[in-house]
Amino acid sequence: MTPDRLSPSRRALLATPLLALPARAQPFGLRGTPQQGGFLIGRTLPGGRAALDGQALRVSPEGLFAFGFGRDHGPRATLTVNGQPQTLEVARRQWDVQHITGLPPAQVTPDAATLERIRVERERLAAVRAVDSARTGFAEGLAWPARGRISGVFGSQRVLNGQSRQPHYGLDVAGPVGTPILAAASGQVTLAAEFHFFGRLVVLDHGHGVNTLYAHLNAIHVREGQAVTRGERIADMGATGRVTGPHLHFSLSWYRVWLDPQPVLEG
Ligand SMILES: [Zn+2]
Repeated sequence: MTPDRLSPSRRALLATPLLALPARAQPFGLRGTPQQGGFLIGRTLPGGRAALDGQALRVSPEGLFAFGFGRDHGPRATLTVNGQPQTLEVARRQWDVQHITGLPPAQVTPDAATLERIRVERERLAAVRAVDSARTGFAEGLAWPARGRISGVFGSQRVLNGQSRQPHYGLDVAGPVGTPILAAASGQVTLAAEFHFFGRLVVLDHGHGVNTLYAHLNAIHVREGQAVTRGERIADMGATGRVTGPHLHFSLSWYRVWLDPQPVLEG
């Protein structure tokens, strides 16, 4: 593949390594910031190998790989590319505490039947997030999935009606019902369903374990198994599931690890 056949975002990836190994080592580039919640895209030589903390990473034939660090990741990690280990300092971040009151009690403390539904839905979501495909849509860079006001950030600790809940693992964008929801990158629809907490939701697989999730949708315009392109309208913003108003809950994950999409969104 010659450089002039690459997409602009992929050209940018090839041209702007943020970290580099010493000159004697095999060349590779990284895009993204090693920090808690950070999503990173690497590029090495075609046929190259990469591992994070001893676990092999999927590397595409053209040398692309992806990985990330969870909200509570420790201070460092070891990235090994073509046998050369390098220590990455994983920057610590401060997370907000967010209080939300006035939710219907049934949505804060679900009954037994609802708990069973939630358990089944969690398993379905875990299964699609574990998908390990050879797609490389993740390397396009993530486009904003909706226009609107940021009403919730990644990593905040939510306190619902005074009870602590798990951290918020997404970015909330508020706007009117019907606001177009766009695919953040090319990929395949792995889930199009209606869940108790998330309401109507879509999950896209962008390859190498990288997924995006779009929740509380009003209408869904795609089907499971369908391929989508970056920027394609996949749904409309809504207020389904556990919400206090219409917004998009947008999540990025790398396999089981939720990541902060906001620092890597473009445009
Ligand atoms: Zn949210």
